[in-house]
Amino acid sequence: MKKVGILTSGGDAPGMNAALRAVVRAGLANGLEMFVIYDGYKGLIEGNIKQVDRTFVSDIINRGGTIIRSARLPEFADVEVRKAGIEQLKKFGIEALVCIGGDGTYQGAKALSDMGINCIGLPGTIDNDIASTDYTIGFDTALNTITNAVGMLRDTSSSHQRCSVVEVMGRYCGDLALYGGIASGSDIIVTSDHPLVRDEIIEKIIKMRKEGKQHIIVIITEKLCDVHELARDIERRTNIECRAEILGRIQRGGSPTARDRVLAGRMGVRAIELLLEGKGGRCVGLRGSDLVDYDINEALKMPKRNNEQLIKVARTIS
Ligand code: ATP
Repeated sequence: MKKVGILTSGGDAPGMNAALRAVVRAGLANGLEMFVIYDGYKGLIEGNIKQVDRTFVSDIINRGGTIIRSARLPEFADVEVRKAGIEQLKKFGIEALVCIGGDGTYQGAKALSDMGINCIGLPGTIDNDIASTDYTIGFDTALNTITNAVGMLRDTSSSHQRCSVVEVMGRYCGDLALYGGIASGSDIIVTSDHPLVRDEIIEKIIKMRKEGKQHIIVIITEKLCDVHELARDIERRTNIECRAEILGRIQRGGSPTARDRVLAGRMGVRAIELLLEGKGGRCVGLRGSDLVDYDINEALKMPKRNNEQLIKVARTIS
């Protein structure tokens, strides 16, 4: 193996650039020729591919987003579409790929590996919704963004003795709300694995106000309910002014934290090591403080991490 490509796919995440930098530099350090593929699997089938040297990845470690851009191409699940991608790789002589993204990206990487292109998946998503790793690249940055944003809301909620309902990202994974709720000292945390029914939320808010609490912050994972409607209901039933805030895509942006950069660096180097060992169809994860790697099919079937300990912490101190 002499030529390796790299792409970022699915939703972008801070730290993808740091991972790109690590993969490119680790590849070059091992005598490989490195290629970037723009726009994820879409750029792959279009042949939007470019050979790069180490300066291509200079000055990007601190940048959010992904300089090689990302895209979604649902048609990549079709074997004929993937064949077009493989033809493009053949034109450039690229024999292996590093694919940075979420579960969908992993599925694309596994499918390509089964067709003879060794691919390694790296977990790049703010949602932390990949079961085969304790932490994904981008999660820590988004978590810090949420913690800071809730801190700012707390100031104004407190001045107006208001209740704020803050919706954070995560899709179907509650980690951003759970960790963000604990880190920001939110009063009520609602996620799919730490659910609260409407009546319980209202009762808690009334109790807190009776105990003299000036501001009340409710943090909630997206897709669980209409937060504007929830805020109106809280206001109607408690007589406390309540506003819903949807943090939205600002959670995706910003300079990656040191933790995300280090994770990206470690995982990028491991991806190249695995390819040099002749491995493909695998993904890299973090377990405790150690890097691990799994067969992608096995990884995609893993049950969700158990957050019981953290949920207990949230229940005790929020
Ligand atoms: P995020 O978690 O941020 O959404 P993701 O990688 O899960 O990231 P998806 O949009 O699900 O995002 O997947 C990214 C891309 O991976 C898809 O647009 C598609 O090109 C490819 N992909 C997804 N599922 C498959 C599949 N079953 N087979 C082949 N390729 C796939």
